Amino acid sequence: MDALPAVKHDALTPAAERLAPCRRLLVLTGAGASADAGIPTFRGPGGVWRSHRPEDLASPEGFARNPELVWEWYRERRVQVARAQPHPGQRALALLARHFPAAEVLVATTNEDDLLERAGVAEVVHLHGSLFATRCAGACGWEQAEDRDSERSRRPCPGCGAAVRPGSTWYGEPLPEAELERVLSFRADGCLLIGSSVLVAPVSNIPAEMALAGLPVVEVNCAETPFTSVATVSLRGPARDILPALVDLLTSPTVRDQRRRTAEG
Ligand code: NAD
Repeated sequence: MDALPAVKHDALTPAAERLAPCRRLLVLTGAGASADAGIPTFRGPGGVWRSHRPEDLASPEGFARNPELVWEWYRERRVQVARAQPHPGQRALALLARHFPAAEVLVATTNEDDLLERAGVAEVVHLHGSLFATRCAGACGWEQAEDRDSERSRRPCPGCGAAVRPGSTWYGEPLPEAELERVLSFRADGCLLIGSSVLVAPVSNIPAEMALAGLPVVEVNCAETPFTSVATVSLRGPARDILPALVDLLTSPTVRDQRRRTAEG
């Protein structure tokens, strides 16, 4: 069991106070939310794989250029993620989803890993697909979930004989419609944005439009991002330290009372 460091952060209480009255809280996580579990972000340290930029591999053009190189990268990442364990911040999100009083919480992610599910979050909306999906690179629509062995990735599509490709959503590809609709139709009235550089549209538009509409958006990130200046509150630090402390406040009796008073008008 990881020891939880005590977090002292001046902005924690204001952040909790702004999120506490929300009725439909969207938790949106990016690559930084999994960094403390040992999964590198694309732009940070360790983000370059054998001198290839991820943006050059995670694209239809990259796959057309060198499918075996792309598969090698995906197979390694599947093994890396399968070996990793969710960190305390991810487990705290599972608690928040279950215990944020009298409110709905929707957890959505641009990550392809399954760490939030393994942390205990019951529903995770994957806006960029799953690292463990393998699908037809042609048009027949065949798709299958794989484990770390990536056995299926080495054979042609059983539906039509075309090559198979990773099932992730790549740069330049549209987001999965049902998942995007799930987030938009949730009609969030507050957002907790964790470990995202907020550079990859259209997901980056979601917190930006919420902030412009005057809704509370709390950012958790260990560095300043393009979003920091418009965030309602920005909590600077690693997700594994900040999230347990924030969730503790959000699920505390004081916050419950504040929510009840707000609901009673
Ligand atoms: P990004 O790599 O562009 O940015 C990551 C952000 O996380 C940065 O702003 C960084 O400051 C912050 N960060 C790093 N470590 C952190 C920590 N310990 N705590 C809090 N914040 C931390 O990632 P992105 O904006 O999410 O976009 C890149 C895309 O790459 C994603 O949409 C995703 O599809 C893919 N990706 C997925 C994974 C994964 O599945 N775990 C990993 C890398 C990249």
